[in-house]
Amino acid sequence: MSNGRYDNNFYRSLNRRQHTLRSRKKRRLAIILTLVIILCAIWAVAIFWLSFLWKDGKTTIPSDTTDPVSTDPIEEETSGIVTDPVTTDPAGINYITLELAKTKLHEGDLILVNSDFPFVFPTNHEATLKPIYGNKNQNYQVSRSDHKIRADLIEILNTMFTEFADLSGKKDVHIYSAYRSLDQQKDIYDYNVEKYGVEEASLYVALPGNSEHHIGTAIDVNIYSSVDKKMYNLPDLPGYDWVTENFHRYGFILRYPEDKIGHTGIGYEPWHFRYVGVPHATIMKEKNYCLEEYTAFLRNYPFSGEHFTYEVDGTRYEIYYVPLAEDENAKTEVPIPADLEYTLSGNNIDGYIVTMTLK
Ligand SMILES: [Zn+2]
Repeated sequence: MSNGRYDNNFYRSLNRRQHTLRSRKKRRLAIILTLVIILCAIWAVAIFWLSFLWKDGKTTIPSDTTDPVSTDPIEEETSGIVTDPVTTDPAGINYITLELAKTKLHEGDLILVNSDFPFVFPTNHEATLKPIYGNKNQNYQVSRSDHKIRADLIEILNTMFTEFADLSGKKDVHIYSAYRSLDQQKDIYDYNVEKYGVEEASLYVALPGNSEHHIGTAIDVNIYSSVDKKMYNLPDLPGYDWVTENFHRYGFILRYPEDKIGHTGIGYEPWHFRYVGVPHATIMKEKNYCLEEYTAFLRNYPFSGEHFTYEVDGTRYEIYYVPLAEDENAKTEVPIPADLEYTLSGNNIDGYIVTMTLK
C-alpha cells in the first residue's frame, strides 16, 4: 500500500510536474497571444485614428467654413491644413494654419457683392440651393414655387417666421424674390432699363453679375395682404416692424438702409435682406454699419494685431482679418483656432474673416 501510495505519490508528483510544465507552456502561449492581440489592437486603433485625421484635414475642416459646398472636390484639393498647432496667443488660444486657394476669397457669409465687386459663381453653385416652397412651414408665404435660397437658410427662416407668427398671429410675410441666375438678373435689368431708363433702374437693380441675389443668401420680402390682395412693404403696414427689427438675431441684415445710400450706391430697399450670419448681423445693426463699412471696419483687426471681440446673447465672439497673400498665385495661410468653434469667410476683395466662438 505504502509502495503503491509511494508510486501513486510519484506519479502524482510527475503528473503535477508535467501539468506545471504544460500550464507554464500554456501561460507562455497565452502571454504571446495576448501580446499579439494587443499589438493588433494598437495597430488597428492607429490606422483608424490616422484615417480619421486624414479625413478631418481633408473634409471636416473646410466644412467648418461658412461655405456650404465643402464637398466640392476642387476645393478639397486647393485647401488644407499645413501645420500642426504652432502658435498660441497671449489669451492661450491655439492656432493651426489653413492654406486657402484664391477661389475661397469669393465664398462665405461675409462676401461683399456690389457694383465694384461682382459675385464669382463657384462650381456647382446651384447644387447648394433649395426651393423654399416645399421646405418652408406655414408661417410665411413665397410667391413662386421655384424661388431658391441656400439650403441651410430655410430652417432659419422657418424658425424666425414661427416666432413672428406666434407673437403677432401674422403669417402673410411673403418672399417674392430669392436666388437669381445671371440670365434672370439680365432679364430684370433689361426690363427695368427699358421701363425707367438706365439711371433710375441702376439705383434699384444691380448689373448682372453684381447682384446679391446671385449668392443665394438674399431675399426680397413684403406683405401680400389677403384683405385687398395687394402687396405692401414691411414699414407700410402696422405690426411688421418686428421682422425688420429682429431679422439680425437670425443673421440677416437690411442690406440697403435709407442712410447708407452713399456707401451702398443702392436706394433704400425696405424689402431686401441678406444673410451674413451670427454675430455679424447683430454687430452691424448695433454699430449701424452697412456691409461696405463693416468690411472696412474688420480690416482694422488683423490676426497679428488686436482682435475684435463682441458679445451677443451671452456668447462672446472674437473676430480677426487675414489679408490675401501678396503673391497672386500663392495660397493664403489663414490661422484658425485649433480648439474653438469658428466660421471663415472671404470678403470677396482682399482677405478673410475668421469668427471664433469663445467658450
Ligand atoms: Zn433684392
